[in-house]
Order: sequence, then structure tokens, then C-alpha cells
Amino acid sequence: YVSFKDVQKSYDGETLVVKNLNMDIAQGEFLTMLGPSGSGKTTTLLMLAGFEVPTNGHIYLDGQPIDNMPPHKRNIGMVFQNYALFPHMTVEENLAFPLQVRKIDKVEIASRIKRALDMVQLGAYGKRRPAQLSGGQQQRVAVARALVFDPKLVLMDEPLGALDKQLREQMQFEIKHLHDRLGITIVYVTHDQSEALTMSNRIAVFNDGIIQQLATPDDLYERPQNAFVAQFIGENN
Ligand code: ATP
Repeated sequence: YVSFKDVQKSYDGETLVVKNLNMDIAQGEFLTMLGPSGSGKTTTLLMLAGFEVPTNGHIYLDGQPIDNMPPHKRNIGMVFQNYALFPHMTVEENLAFPLQVRKIDKVEIASRIKRALDMVQLGAYGKRRPAQLSGGQQQRVAVARALVFDPKLVLMDEPLGALDKQLREQMQFEIKHLHDRLGITIVYVTHDQSEALTMSNRIAVFNDGIIQQLATPDDLYERPQNAFVAQFIGENN
């Protein structure tokens, strides 16, 4: 469904921050990219989203190369750590904005917003501004905003990094539940081992621009392929 073939990325024309990436992601899969800071996870996500271009290699979506496809044509939802909600707009206006930009009609916008807010259990909060919501609720708005386009693929980059432990665990559960219920494909970035192990179908362990191992949580835990994986997975567990 998503396929990276021999993808490399350099920002300065010298150092490769993604070295030779080959990765297939199945439709409906929850795939997590796990690794230390600077290992190339975000760069990989940005290339899939279309905000960065691979220096070498290709990315395929449904068998088609997407090298020249602009981000808004890829039908991919995105959620980031800093939710980037507009502070002066209500929740509904935050969700409506990207739809209005695409000239979708008002009735359709209203029904999509309602559906997306219901999905994250925020149906009663549409008229509030972000500052009137808790951190967890703001993050749920960001998730709802990624869902208003009915994307088949949603990318999440450390979406829970700013939340305290208890909220983080609750949101992990909610995101996993949404994934199971909607049947969407999620590509998730984190440096938190336990988060990756609890949520994912498969985990790609990154270090230094290279996937060290791509496997199920059980396999990673029981059969780490090298010393880096063994040590990184073992930390905090
Ligand atoms: P983190 O968990 O800290 O976000 P990461 O694994 O997502 O780390 P990337 O953000 O992909 O890693 O960064 C990989 C390398 O690329 C880092 O050395 C970083 O400094 C470099 N880098 C990232 N973005 C840029 C950019 N726009 N220009 C130049 N270098 C960049």
C-alpha cells in the first residue's frame, strides 16, 4: 500500500539523514517508527506527506510513484505534537478552515465536522476556543482535524509528547480504538518504547538514518536483531 524503495535524504547535499530506506506498510496497519532523536523518523514522515522530497529513491502509494504529487493531493491526514490549532477560532472553525480552503460546500462541511468531533467524543465542544480546552481535548481536536478529509492514511508525529503520563495513556487507548474502528492506516512516530510496544502492529526501529529492525512488538522484544535494538527496546521496560 505504502512503499519506500531505496529512499535517501540529505538536507545539505553531504550527510544522509535517511540512508537507504526500504519499507512496505500494509493497508490498515498501525506502523510505528521508533528511535532516538535525530534518527530520521520525522524526515521519513515528511517525505511521505510530501513536504520533503527524497534525494534518491521513490515512494509509492497504491503502486503509483508519488514523487511529484503535492501534499494536498495525497489525501493524508496529519497530527503533530504542537497541535497548531488557531487560537482565535472555535473548534468548529478550526476544523472548517481546511475544508473551506478546498471550497467544499457548507452543508457538507457541517456534517463532516460533526462526524469528526463525534469520533473523538468532542461533540459538545464545537463552540469553544482551544484555550478553553484541556491539553488532551486540544489533542483530540487535532486528531479530529486530521479526520475531516476521510483520509485512508494518517501520519502522527509524537502526537502525545506534550501530555502528562495519565493523559498520554488514555489518548494511546483512544487513538488505537479509532484505528481499529475506522480501519485506517496509521504511521506513527515516537521515541517512547512502551508507547510503540502497546499501540503498534509493527515497529520500525530507527537509528542513524537506518532501520535497524522492522518487526512486530513481540518479535522485537523476544528476538532483537542487534545490540542497538536490544538495548533501546530494553530501556524503561
Ligand atoms: P526527533 O525525534 O528529534 O524529531 P527524528 O528521528 O525525527 O528526531 P529528524 O527530525 O528526521 O529525526 O532529523 C534527522 C536529522 O536531520 C537530524 O540530524 C536533523 O538535525 C536533520 N534535519 C532535520 N530537518 C532538517 C532540515 N530542515 N534542514 C537540515 N537538517 C535537518
